[in-house]
Amino acid sequence: MKRALFRSIVSIVAAATAWVQIAPAQVMRTESSGISGERIRAHVKFLASDLLEGRGVGTRGGDLASEYIATQFALDGLKPAGDNGTYFQNFTLVGSDPQPATSLSVTASHVTLPFGWLDDFVGVTFQQKPTVDIDADAVFVGHGIVAPEYQWDDYQGVDVHGKVVVLFTGEPPSRDPKFFNGAALTYYGRWTYKYEEAARHGAAGAIIVHTMPTASYGWNVVRSSWSKEELEMKLGPGTPAVGFAGWVTKEAGERIAATQNTTADQWLQLADTRGFRAKPLPLRFRIHAAAKIRELRTRNVIGKVEGSDPQLKNEAVMFSAHWDHLGVGEAVRGDAIYNGAQDNATGCGVLLELARAWAALPQKPRRSALFISVAAEEAGLLGSEYYGKHPVIAAGKTALALNYDSLPPLGRTSDVQVHGAERTTIYSVVAEAARRFHLAISPDPRPLAGTYYRSDHFSFARVGIPAFSIDSGHDLVGQPHGTADRLADEYNEAHYHQPSDEYHDSWDFSGMELYARFGFAINHEAANLPKLPTWQTADEFLAARVASGVR
Ligand SMILES: [Zn+2]
Repeated sequence: MKRALFRSIVSIVAAATAWVQIAPAQVMRTESSGISGERIRAHVKFLASDLLEGRGVGTRGGDLASEYIATQFALDGLKPAGDNGTYFQNFTLVGSDPQPATSLSVTASHVTLPFGWLDDFVGVTFQQKPTVDIDADAVFVGHGIVAPEYQWDDYQGVDVHGKVVVLFTGEPPSRDPKFFNGAALTYYGRWTYKYEEAARHGAAGAIIVHTMPTASYGWNVVRSSWSKEELEMKLGPGTPAVGFAGWVTKEAGERIAATQNTTADQWLQLADTRGFRAKPLPLRFRIHAAAKIRELRTRNVIGKVEGSDPQLKNEAVMFSAHWDHLGVGEAVRGDAIYNGAQDNATGCGVLLELARAWAALPQKPRRSALFISVAAEEAGLLGSEYYGKHPVIAAGKTALALNYDSLPPLGRTSDVQVHGAERTTIYSVVAEAARRFHLAISPDPRPLAGTYYRSDHFSFARVGIPAFSIDSGHDLVGQPHGTADRLADEYNEAHYHQPSDEYHDSWDFSGMELYARFGFAINHEAANLPKLPTWQTADEFLAARVASGVR
């Protein structure tokens, strides 16, 4: 009874002031939820073991990992929220493995420029077919962006149907927060968006001219990630997809630009300038895209704890963490199992511990809570994308999604990263929770790199749900400043996406326990708020939120 009373007082205060006061009893209740770093350790140790063979999607190890998570949900008393009364949400992926028979040439009047596979260009068909042949005219479309909210349309006045578009990744440079979100990269700047937009305009192919400033990484990264199998969601009937999604090197771009008596840099300058108009190019692109195609089945794991309010239990808060990693691959120093201990057995361990603690709450919050372990994150956020398009509880009835991905096992920090939270109306709740946990909120050190778009929370934001990841901070308690960043750099250099991302008994799970408690407190608040949170005015995800029915 007392608890219920406190909750209604909280609601009244929140409604009256649009600011959430935390009643002391509630603080105690959410923070003494028994979340344990040692229980997180037990999950991580199992999920990262060699027995699970790197948890690849469509493999036995991946199936075992998702089965384990479902079993834990069942033991904790979560309700199955997947297909047909199970914990699993099944879906089909298609693998397209580009073959060296893939070819590209460009003809300008009488000269034909050949380009070499991997050295000059990479690419694969997005049409999920073993071969696609293109023989088409080309159009230079700048950054290939259609962004009505910034009055920017690179496709205006040009018909690219059946043609090859040539473009740069990235977006027009900006320091104005109202223009492409200032210095930070928006989704319009990501290469995935370029191919989607080109397909929407009916382009046969889309070729990105690589440059360091627009991509923020070198050709070696493009080359290695585009010369292996690409997993994509199986295309629905009538879904547009480009016949060839490719990249050329800066040098190859220069050779193409030279046929027009210009340079790639001049093209980029045009692309960056307001008022840019797409330019049809008097060039013929001949492309043969060859790929090995296969289908595989995988699944998200979804459990639910029902809310206590008869109405609001139809709405939800979400926690997520991807279970997949890279499976068994090329051996490095005799080890071919990509265990993915940090990436992302840690997030799964946190998710499972959150699920256990939430299900054990004597008094459930008003909204329901969904615990979602998504598949195929490593292949490009595919499991979360599938959930976004096939939600268990509609996006417009989901208050907040908190994601955990790749938490360093280094102990507690005095700060935390919640990039994207500041763009939502839930930020006051996040800031208040951070204050209570004595966590400073650190800003994104690399906004230009577009890190926000690289984990599963982004798939939820795309359908409008306020969403962000809770990431470890920079300052380890009791260690000299800079230690955490140095160790993070070491991890990225030596262990990120390597077989050596393995579990060690020396790992310290106290940080993960802290970030789990912090996220628990935030979603506990979000599950009781009178009003659904949304995105701030002019945010790129606000339109999706409004379209989902949240005003
Ligand atoms: Zn990863």
